[in-house]
Amino acid sequence: MKIILASGNKGKIAEFKKLFPSDEVLCFKDIIGDYEVIEDKDSFKGNAVKKAEEIYEKINDENIIVISDDSGISVPSLNGEPGIYSARYAGQGSSDKENYEKLISELKKKDISRTPAFYTACIAIVYKKETYTVHGWMHGEVIDEPKGENGFGYDPLFIPKGYDKTLGELGSEIKKSFSHRSKAVKLAKKILDVII
Ligand code: IMP
Repeated sequence: MKIILASGNKGKIAEFKKLFPSDEVLCFKDIIGDYEVIEDKDSFKGNAVKKAEEIYEKINDENIIVISDDSGISVPSLNGEPGIYSARYAGQGSSDKENYEKLISELKKKDISRTPAFYTACIAIVYKKETYTVHGWMHGEVIDEPKGENGFGYDPLFIPKGYDKTLGELGSEIKKSFSHRSKAVKLAKKILDVII
């Protein structure tokens, strides 16, 4: 099966390739070149649907499968921040490091060194002009200093429930076994089984 991913995020693309090991996963940019979907909806689902539908229309081939992922980390003690703004928490175009440093500075402002947090992933699938969505979550805690080099985004700050190390330290195989994205992909595969 050939899947077009409606995302240019290198960390996500790498994880999707591992989560669909027997399929061909291509980044939409390999087909239509540089293009930016404006993420202006107020939910993960709204943005995931917008990305998948817009890329599907742009590619204009009704037999393709387009999958998008809109995701982020929410910290209840920071009123749910950064949430849907995770990719641009430190401003539009910020790097992963700038974003997690902004999260650390917000935690420090409140004298928090460790607090509950969770990741959300919404995956949207568009096939034959129909759109389907699923969600996955991963709960744990964030800390106020980065640890480890694995993963991407906020992974160096995130300690999954039941562990005492960050995802940056634990590595991609452990993350893959219970991540928000893995759980959403498992559900997405069930939908693909039914619709393809
Ligand atoms: P999106 O591309 O608009 O969905 O933004 C996703 C952002 O959320 C990423 O840039 C990361 O900052 C964060 N994020 C989502 N999933 C993960 C993950 O699995 N690990 C670390 N950060 C993540």
